[in-house]
Amino acid sequence: MVYAADLHLHSHFARGTSGKLTFDNMAAWAKLKGIDLLASPDFTHPAWFEETRRKLRERGDGTYELNGVRFVLGAEINCAGGQGGRNRRVHVLAFAPSLDAAAGINSALEPRGALHADGRPTIRATPRELVHLLLDVDPRCFVIPAHAWTPWFGVYGSKSGFDSLEECFGDAWERVPAIETGLSSDPAMNWRVPELDDRAIVSFSDAHSLPKMGRELTYFRGGLDYDGLLDSLRTQNIAHTVEFFPEEGKYHHSGHRKCGVSLSPAEVSEGNGRCPKCGRALTIGVLQRVHDLGRRDAGARRGDDGFTRSDNGRPPFRSMVALELIIAESLGVGVKTKKVRTAYETLVSMLGSEMSALMEAPIADIEAAAGDRVAEGVDRVRKGRVQVVPGFDGQYGTVRIWGGHSPRGQERSPLPTDH
Ligand SMILES: [Zn+2]
Ligand SMILES: [Zn+2]
Repeated sequence: MVYAADLHLHSHFARGTSGKLTFDNMAAWAKLKGIDLLASPDFTHPAWFEETRRKLRERGDGTYELNGVRFVLGAEINCAGGQGGRNRRVHVLAFAPSLDAAAGINSALEPRGALHADGRPTIRATPRELVHLLLDVDPRCFVIPAHAWTPWFGVYGSKSGFDSLEECFGDAWERVPAIETGLSSDPAMNWRVPELDDRAIVSFSDAHSLPKMGRELTYFRGGLDYDGLLDSLRTQNIAHTVEFFPEEGKYHHSGHRKCGVSLSPAEVSEGNGRCPKCGRALTIGVLQRVHDLGRRDAGARRGDDGFTRSDNGRPPFRSMVALELIIAESLGVGVKTKKVRTAYETLVSMLGSEMSALMEAPIADIEAAAGDRVAEGVDRVRKGRVQVVPGFDGQYGTVRIWGGHSPRGQERSPLPTDH
């Protein structure tokens, strides 16, 4: 079977997240969105762990259930350990096959960090030490480096990351089946890195509020249970992933936000990594890191069906824009308006889910539900006919369907590119 999974989520106990991130709400939104499997996040948080026990029904196959939505136990951990003579801060997603295993992990982590302080706890351990600690509790645990390329907290990040995952994980590298692209990179960028050839490239939302769930997604093939999921990761048995246009992410370009300076790799090397306005060091973005660590071309082609495929059979992906943004721009109104909410609800109820409206429904059906302008908006996004202005230094990039960008806005080239 093929199922949609969002395995990077947070509860309301994680810092900076919405108070509405409860189990009941997450299950309801998963249905609206069309997501089959969610991470039951933040299992390291004592209060949320108790809620997990109380709310979810254990199925005995490593997944849990609430109102027809499946969950797998996950947590995001900030690994804060010195390595190679530097302070490192690396976020990884950790997964456990049972509540007993999760409880065991929590006991092992307790002496290394304040688990109750944040649903995304800071733990005194390197990523390698964390993997060993998890495997000592249960050999079926696994980790996925989160938003792998972001400057802060990304395993490949410019601020405290590594130049290679093998260097980061050492003898635990074999136990890392996948990496998460994060919003600012897409699979084609990751295909450039040889050490990732035998790892799955996955995408999840890292949503801090309900509407953002599923903004990036992975459609897995195989059995929808814990062992099936791990097997699909290990064998890259993935139908496809759904991505942001990577330019939209907050750290795609390098730059200096205070000065409004946003630079491509060629422009970064021209200025020796300094801000051309104030001379300070730039925040080196994701595109630059891929440029530095990528050893070859992506070997990627975008087809007429909107999917980008690799020359050597990696799982394909497609780039999407959130449905409410498409509606808002198509109707020329703000995202938070009643008009957008109404059109969104009509589309979702007539077409089954947000994902089916975005990616599967015939354009004629979208027109019937929400008018020709929204239908054309969806069609343009499906075909990748959008204009982008890359994000940089913490500022989100923008995507426009009908133009209207500043001169820096550019028609997106048909392939993800460096230049
Ligand atoms: Zn994170
Ligand atoms: Zn500056």
